[in-house]
Amino acid sequence: MEMIAFNSKFPQIAEKETRSITVVDNSYGLEVGQYFFIELFCTDRTCDCRRAMVKVIGPGGKFFATLSYGWESLEFYTQWMFGDSSISDTIIGTQLYSLAPQTKDSNQFLDFFKTMLQDIEYANRIKRHYELFKKAKKTKPNYFTNPKLNKKNDLRITSTNL
Ligand SMILES: [Zn+2]
Repeated sequence: MEMIAFNSKFPQIAEKETRSITVVDNSYGLEVGQYFFIELFCTDRTCDCRRAMVKVIGPGGKFFATLSYGWESLEFYTQWMFGDSSISDTIIGTQLYSLAPQTKDSNQFLDFFKTMLQDIEYANRIKRHYELFKKAKKTKPNYFTNPKLNKKNDLRITSTNL
C-alpha cells in the first residue's frame, strides 16, 4: 500500500498539530535540535487499515526512523488480514515499521514515541488525522514541506525527563 504524508493533504492542520521533540543535550547520543514525527497514511480509500506510519525527521531534514502505530486490537488486524495473525503482529501497537528504512537510532525514537503516546490526546490526534485523511477527496499529493516548530506540540528531551 502507498503511504503519503498527512501534511501533503492537510498542510495547515499538520503545521499546527505535528508533534516534535527537542533534544537539548547529548544524553541520548543524538544531535541537539528538533525532531519531527511526520504522520503518513495509506492512500487507498477503500482500505480501513487503521494504522499510521511515522517518519522521524531531525535537524537538517535528516531521516532517523520509520515507526508504526496500529491502535486497534490484535483481533481486528487478524480479521482484516483474513486470519493471518503473523501479519497483524507487525501492525498492532507501536513498533518499527517492518520492511521500511531504519537507522542505528531508530529504537531510541521508538522509545520516545511510546512515551509520547502515553498522552491520550496525541493518540486521539493520530486517529483523527487518519479519519480526515481517509475522507479527503482524491488529490495529487504534494511532497511535504518541512514542518515548523510549534512549541505546544514539542517535548523537550533531557536525561532526566524520560
Ligand atoms: Zn490501508
